[in-house]
Amino acid sequence: MEKTTDQRAEVLDGARIAEEIKREVAAEVVRLQQESNVRPCLATVRVGDDPASTIYVRNKVLACEALGLRSEPHVLAAETTTEHLLDLVGTLNKRDDVDGILVQLPLPPGVDELRVIEAIDPAKDVDGIHPINVGRLALGQPGLVPCTPAGIIELLERSGVAISGMNACVVGRSNIVGRPMSQLLLQRNATITICHSRTRDLAAMTRQADILIVAIGRAALVRGEHIKPGAAVVDVGMNKVTDEGEARALFGDDAAKRVEIIKRRGYTLVGDVHPAEVEGVAGRLTPVPRGVGPLTIAMLMQNTVKAARMRRGIKVTGDEQE
Ligand code: NDP
Repeated sequence: MEKTTDQRAEVLDGARIAEEIKREVAAEVVRLQQESNVRPCLATVRVGDDPASTIYVRNKVLACEALGLRSEPHVLAAETTTEHLLDLVGTLNKRDDVDGILVQLPLPPGVDELRVIEAIDPAKDVDGIHPINVGRLALGQPGLVPCTPAGIIELLERSGVAISGMNACVVGRSNIVGRPMSQLLLQRNATITICHSRTRDLAAMTRQADILIVAIGRAALVRGEHIKPGAAVVDVGMNKVTDEGEARALFGDDAAKRVEIIKRRGYTLVGDVHPAEVEGVAGRLTPVPRGVGPLTIAMLMQNTVKAARMRRGIKVTGDEQE
């Protein structure tokens, strides 16, 4: 997309598309109940009292309630052993009425996270992090795909951003965002560059990108100079800004509102992309908040319904491509 420098990037509206997906999921939940007498159920497992994890899990449970899914929250003490957690996962695996198992990460340092992930039945792995699902994704086979990158694909496709043949750059190579993101873009015939903390000249790489996905957890690290004019930019990062002066430098026209939020709540959120600079160069840009975050929860709901169908061999037209 061509643009002149004084134009602001068009908003890639993650919140709106998340609502659209949630409406579709709610309709499918009704259909599943009517046609197959199935009400999908998500079991969440939280270990310890990490405040961020507590909020994330609560939001997931609330989303289930809003869309008609059943949820079953399990909360275990921070001192829980790996064996105890493996027992719980084993029980949830065996239960026919549980369709999705979500173990909120990170787990406390004493717990063997990899063993717990590997113990989850791949058919119920709604986070898409079991090695079987990771392998299926790498092979381009259908399976459960991690929610954040799956949501970003929905965002791009439903917003009319062309992917096939484009140069896509993914900054970050985590197991839940960067790596699966690049696989999904590759499946859709983009040419992929993956960058990380050892990339030598980040801006030289990102400036080639028609589609730039940034998931690094570094506040506003990606600046105007990193962006190809007119590119579609997806900012996955969520970082807290507490300093009013910093907020003024980051948010341009939006600064007064953000300073107000800091005064009221103590912080405001910024992504990994510098909003004021990048919106002057990019063609399209996700906001933070209300960009990628809502999509992640919507896709978790979609994955739970998908798991409920796949486990029972219930097909939906058009599902084979996932
Ligand atoms: P991780 O910390 O697991 O991974 C960060 C990645 O960024 C690593 O691959 C790291 O490289 C790379 N990186 C770090 N610093 C730089 C740098 N200076 N230049 C280039 N690459 C760098 O993060 P996650 O993927 O879990 O999350 C990333 C961000 O996305 C976080 O802010 C997180 O809060 C947010 N997030 C948001 C979600 C949402 O729903 N909105 C969902 C998930 C995450 P290396 O591998 O070399 O160390």
